[in-house]
Amino acid sequence: MANTSTTPSTICEKYNLTIEQLSAGTHIVLNGTQHCVIVESSSVPGQEYKIIWNSLYKVLQCTVHNGVPCKASANGKQCYHKRVALAVIELEKAQSIREQAEIEATPEYQFEQLFRDLEDALNALDRIAEEANEREKARRDAERYSLPLNGNRPFSLLR
Ligand SMILES: [Zn+2]
Repeated sequence: MANTSTTPSTICEKYNLTIEQLSAGTHIVLNGTQHCVIVESSSVPGQEYKIIWNSLYKVLQCTVHNGVPCKASANGKQCYHKRVALAVIELEKAQSIREQAEIEATPEYQFEQLFRDLEDALNALDRIAEEANEREKARRDAERYSLPLNGNRPFSLLR
């Protein structure tokens, strides 16, 4: 799982990759929806493979991005390009978790958070006051309507 201590070197170790292999991978989004990782061939300059997630078969696939398919995939074998794709995504996730943690550590964020907490507290107070008002109104209503019917009418002061 991605965590804050994930670094390129721990990722390389986990996926059995070199830093060069890892750096050949780039996460891109095609047509604004399809996530994939483009991996440059280490043996053929300019040759790129596109690693996609096949949601139907729930497998990663190494497909042609330009030129020809990678030899391993063409022969139905696992290739390291898929590991690069997994590594790139995991590293990205770890980075965004770290960035979020950094944002949360800034005074601006903490102030904003404080302000939000304060707002929540004020809202809660408003609700309490409102409830108290309603209770008071109900009490007054009850008082008004339970007066004995001996001539003391409720609005005697308005006579
Ligand atoms: Zn491949």
